[in-house]
Parts: sequence; structure tokens; C-alpha cells
Amino acid sequence: MLKTSLRRACPVCAGRSGAELLHTQRFVLPAGHPLPDKYDVVACGSCGFVYADTPADQDAYDKYYGEMSKYEMAYTSPDTSLFIDRAAWISGFVRGRGDSVIDIGCGNGELIAELRKLGLTDLTGLDPSEKCVSALKSRGIRGIRGSVFSVSAGRKYDCAVLSGVLEHIYDVGKIMKTMSRLLTRRGLLFVCVPDASRYPEYDAVPFDYFNIEHINHFDETSLLNLGLRHGFNMVGSLKTTVTLSKTTQPMVFCVYENAQNPAADSRSYSRNRVAAYIGQTNAKAAGGRVIGRLARGKREVIVWGAGNYTSRLLACSGLAKCNIVMVVDNDRHKQGMSIGGHTVRPPAAIRRLKKNPAILVSVAVFSAEVIAEIRAMGLSNEVIVLK
Ligand SMILES: [Zn+2]
Repeated sequence: MLKTSLRRACPVCAGRSGAELLHTQRFVLPAGHPLPDKYDVVACGSCGFVYADTPADQDAYDKYYGEMSKYEMAYTSPDTSLFIDRAAWISGFVRGRGDSVIDIGCGNGELIAELRKLGLTDLTGLDPSEKCVSALKSRGIRGIRGSVFSVSAGRKYDCAVLSGVLEHIYDVGKIMKTMSRLLTRRGLLFVCVPDASRYPEYDAVPFDYFNIEHINHFDETSLLNLGLRHGFNMVGSLKTTVTLSKTTQPMVFCVYENAQNPAADSRSYSRNRVAAYIGQTNAKAAGGRVIGRLARGKREVIVWGAGNYTSRLLACSGLAKCNIVMVVDNDRHKQGMSIGGHTVRPPAAIRRLKKNPAILVSVAVFSAEVIAEIRAMGLSNEVIVLK
């Protein structure tokens, strides 16, 4: 069923049209609770992202997290293995042990403590709770009290971690903009969130994923799209699980690089990557100049290689204008075929030539092997390689 009026724009693409209503989740909350007692779970009509269309706003969520201890009396202390795994994964991407890392919404600093064990030295934790900041300090870790949105731009970091944060955030676009400013250029942003694409496989408690706090349901695709919109390249991801209070939930981790690209969307992603590849390949234009010289000089040349590479060169590089006296290839299936008006012969045919023209090595990857073979055959011809 389509939902015609949305209260919340899509947190990934900011779209507002054509959302599909999937479910309405209701809660009975303690009196005076800052969050609403129901929200709709919708799928964005533009990008497919699934999220809670909640009547609350970011202020209500900030208020809730500020007062959370009132509502959540019993904090469960998650198994530290969770932080060990997460720290090991993060540490594998951090470029230098002295790179600065800020863990945003760090709680009691368990993740930072694990990162420190892995040799990282410049670590900072940020949390809105005074209790958490004191816990950090007692562990000898730098702590800042503050919200995700109030991170000071005074210092830039090489890495930022949003572990178990983004699924809670009403204004996801705002946090991504903050991260872009907080990180150095090419700085790394680590995101760890529940993986909505695998909810059906980890369905222990009915509607557990639609709790009062989790208002964004990310997966690999929506994380990629979110990054694209805010100039981040996704440079790694991991599908994993986490076990809390005997319940296993699917998680997806991703690491973005702060590429500061212009905003893009999923429709132009592959197109832009391939366009970049074409530009790069044209700039390198393997052998273009060499072939141009051969063609202009009308020098006689033997082309070694009758595969895809030669096909492209014949069509695009001017190779067809060269004074080709013979095309050879070791591949028996190609021998006897005609390419560009030349019958493909076995390399041994070179010996029967009375002249001694240069051999142009026209293969994509095995040029070293071809040169070795020419030498092993005892041929004294000049060898021209296009790289
Ligand atoms: Zn969307």
C-alpha cells in the first residue's frame, strides 16, 4: 500500500514520494516518554530504503537519549567478544598506528580499549553521557562529552567510528555532513549497523527489529547509496552477526573513504566508474605513440598476438595502417584464421622470412613470456613492446 503523506523524508536519498507502507508498529510507553507510541515502517519509493516514518523529530530523539537511563534501568553489558571482532576489523583498515580515531557514541569505551590493544595510540571517545566520559577517563582514554551533531570541527580525525549509531539517528544526512567535515580528506568512516537484508534469517523475537530506538534499517545497498550521496566511497564491507543476551542478530559493517566526491546516486554509480575507466585508459592509450611512429615510418613489422588486444589495436590505434608483413600466434585455434587481411601463422613461420623485421608484441598481459620465447627461438629481430 502506498503512503501518500510522509512525515519523514527518506534518510538515505531525501525522497518523499511513492513510499510503500510495510507495517505499523505500536508501543505502550511509560507516561511522559519523549517518543511517540507508534510509527510506520515504510520503503522509500525512490531508493528502496526501509525506515520508520515517525512523527517525532531529531529533538525528541536527542531528549530520549539524554534521559535514556530513566527508561532503560537495566543496562546489559554486551559480551566483549563483540568489541574484539569489531576492533580487529576496523584496525585492518587504519593506515598508521598513530592515526587519530574518534569513536562517536562510544559508551564505556570498550571498543576503544580493544583498539588500543591492537596498537592504536591516538584514540578519543565521544558520548553524551557524563558517566561514560568518566569511565573513559578512568581507563586513561581521552573523552569528550557531546552529541553526534556537536562534534567540534576544531580538530580533524583520520578515522571516525559510528558503531551501533546510525540505526538510531533521525537526521542521517546531517550526521554524514558532520562526518565529512570532521574527517581528513581520504579519512575513514566506519559504520556498524544491523543488516536488514538478513532479518528473516535471524528472527528470534517477533518484531524485535522494530523497537522504539531503531528507526533506520540499513543493508549493504543503502549504505553504498548513503555514501554516494555524501561524497564517500565505500572501500570495504563485512556481513557478520552479533550475539547479545543470547539473541543473534545480523550486522553489516562498512568503511567509507572521505573522497569528497560530488553527490551521486545509485543510478549514476556504475556509469561514473566506467566513465572514469574509459578516461584513464584513453589517457594511457597503450602504445598509441609507438604505433603512430611505426605507421608513419612504413617500417615492416611482425605482429605477435592475434587475440582481443590486437583486435582492439587494429580497430582503434592505427595498427591497421602499419606495414604488417605477418601476424603470428601460438594458439593453434587462431592459426589459419584471417585478421585484418593477414593469415595468422605459427611463430616458427618467422624463421622462413628472408627479411628481419621488428616484432611488435601485441598481447595484453604475457609480453614477458613472449619476449622470452622470441629469445629462446634464437631470433635476432628487434622487439617492440607497447608498455
Ligand atoms: Zn530513499
